[in-house]
Amino acid sequence: MRSITIDVEEAWQTEVARKVVPRSSWDHQPSRVVDATQGLLTLLAEHDAPATFFFLGCIARQHPRLVRDVADAGHEIACHGDGHDHLSRLNPISMLADVTRAKKTLEDLAGQPVLGYRAPTWSVTRANPWAIDVLHQAGFLYDASIFPTLHPNYGIPDAPISPFRVASRPDSPTLLAIPPLVWRLGGRNIPVAGGGYFRLLPLQPMLSGLSQARRDHRPAILYFHPWEFDADQPRLPLPLLSRLRMYRGVGSSTRRMARVLSTFAGWTSLAQRLPELSAVARTQRPLVLSTGSSERQVA
Ligand SMILES: [Zn+2]
Repeated sequence: MRSITIDVEEAWQTEVARKVVPRSSWDHQPSRVVDATQGLLTLLAEHDAPATFFFLGCIARQHPRLVRDVADAGHEIACHGDGHDHLSRLNPISMLADVTRAKKTLEDLAGQPVLGYRAPTWSVTRANPWAIDVLHQAGFLYDASIFPTLHPNYGIPDAPISPFRVASRPDSPTLLAIPPLVWRLGGRNIPVAGGGYFRLLPLQPMLSGLSQARRDHRPAILYFHPWEFDADQPRLPLPLLSRLRMYRGVGSSTRRMARVLSTFAGWTSLAQRLPELSAVARTQRPLVLSTGSSERQVA
């Protein structure tokens, strides 16, 4: 069981770009997401690989045809929130408004229910257990935002590395959580599932992680962004280190992804395998994000 997931956003909507491209200027930025996503559709079609596309609601409203094209090509339409707000900038009320708006936009365009959510920048963490209750309330069936690794800006290092059930508190309802692939090495979870880990490292760690998951009968979920495949995009005036992280390897991403897709077979969207993913989750211990009872509740 292995899946490609795509977070559909512009390069200038990423967290790192916010410092040089403020939200107030988004309407005036050049859009490149349509061509980059169409290129991914071609690549996925060549390898007969249905995938899951986590769309931003604001992208869907600006490029409605793109949502329909992705859905018509047989891919799953899922939700990446509306305005790419890191959850640390939202609260239960504003997150509910954000995801509800995006979910409705996407369902109206795609003509299919939107089952899954991925937070911008993997921002479902122990700092915001209420996010799980918000996703329940908004009608999502799964979350794909919990990264079982140690990172300064995200991650829950002790989260299960296979699909699991997650709850905000011990007495709250659980939600299916589908984590990205990690490679178990020396007792650590090495992130190898995509993004910068895909572009900055040799391809071998990702291939090793996929082989290990196959051997362990563990679902393997990879993630990419359309802008990571856009070699000709104008470079944002970011600090040197951020620029390296953002743009290194974009010229070889298509070739590398083709190699990943042809090395392993049987790629499906997450929605296609939801019963199996749920069955795996029932074999894992549930993760409770907060043991306290004083968390803010959704009104
Ligand atoms: Zn994103």
